[in-house]
Amino acid sequence: MTADRTTWVIRGARPLGGEPADITVTDGAITEIGPGASAPRGAQVLEASGLIALPGLVDLHAHLREPGREDAETIETGTLAAALGGFTAVHAMANTDPVADTAGVTEQIWRLGRAAGHCDVQPVGAVTAGLGGSRLAEFGAMAESAARVRVFSDDGRCVSDAVLMRRALEYVKAFDGVIAQHAQEPRLTEGAQMNEGVASGRLGLAGWPAVAEEAVIARDCLLAAHVDSALHICHVSTAGSVEIIRWAKSKGWRVTAEVTPHHLLLTDDLVATYDPVYKVNPPLRTAADVAALREALADGTIDCVATDHAPHPVEDKETEWAVAAHGMTGLETALRVVQEAMVDTGLLGWAQVADRMSARPAAIGRLAGHGQPLAPGEPANLVLYNPAVREVVDPAMHASRSRNSPFAGMTLPGQVVATFLRGRPTVLDGKPS
Ligand SMILES: [Zn+2]
Repeated sequence: MTADRTTWVIRGARPLGGEPADITVTDGAITEIGPGASAPRGAQVLEASGLIALPGLVDLHAHLREPGREDAETIETGTLAAALGGFTAVHAMANTDPVADTAGVTEQIWRLGRAAGHCDVQPVGAVTAGLGGSRLAEFGAMAESAARVRVFSDDGRCVSDAVLMRRALEYVKAFDGVIAQHAQEPRLTEGAQMNEGVASGRLGLAGWPAVAEEAVIARDCLLAAHVDSALHICHVSTAGSVEIIRWAKSKGWRVTAEVTPHHLLLTDDLVATYDPVYKVNPPLRTAADVAALREALADGTIDCVATDHAPHPVEDKETEWAVAAHGMTGLETALRVVQEAMVDTGLLGWAQVADRMSARPAAIGRLAGHGQPLAPGEPANLVLYNPAVREVVDPAMHASRSRNSPFAGMTLPGQVVATFLRGRPTVLDGKPS
């Protein structure tokens, strides 16, 4: 761990896209930001002119698949993918095998993250035992474990039972936790294959109506208000959901929400290819939904971007549409997609990107030491990003063990050049360090 003690002088980077400055990092912390820093003897100097400096990104929603599906991803490969995407912390969803529903499993995931060392791994605990939807998991034991679990989710499945959802919201208040809901009314989506709309009618695929998401979000906002607890809504995908969240926030209720990069850029027209790389839960929606999601992320109705990185091996994905697994990889392309959808369109500046991809997700996840501003005294978690290049996305080059990127073959802006975790480079020159 001697590398942590190295002094780095990052020359000429643009903090939050502003004026060029030198950033000095010593003993894992930012010690100075300003023009013309002198490099002390033995310091490493990194030329960063033209690069934007952002605080290390934080993902509230990733599937790292370990334990249980190491053929799709491991904590080693998933966190390396995260670092290459500019992340210094990721929340790992609980739908592993065994399910992360005990102190033991969540601690195991947390320790594997520490051992890998590419970024911090914060386990999410299951809401119900075994994701079974019938009995609450041991929230207290997970919260008190070394993993200090604060976010609980059955993601992949919806907590559809209103009584269980109410009890879960009540339970997490004891330790300032939050319930992250995958909003999908199960009966309304039985057999659903894609967004219900014009495209599903044309293709003859069973539709997944927007109301299946919106009805659960409305119910849970009301429940959160009723018990004065904190609700987070995963992967918001419809314009109607945005309206409900805007209304709940206007009431002052403790509701937060995330949107994925793919829902900010892709539409259900892509399903016409029948390429299962576009099969995802919740499904890709319409251009009008995409526009509403972008506007909501810009005005803060949607708090943050979360990847819902969902790696799958080839045999689960490159098959018939009807039987293919849901999900897309996203850690290595998230910032590039956000630049394409939000920055290059004039909807967000880089300071707001830092808010939506670092500060807000860290706050929602109750994650100490991440999401801090780029300022002296703060932990040196940061990413250096070149927004000026454009390159074709090639999943074969990704560190993720899986290749199911819906952006494969697309030309996207941007490149993560370096990522620092507490002063130690995890990525340098665009490569693992
Ligand atoms: Zn989900």
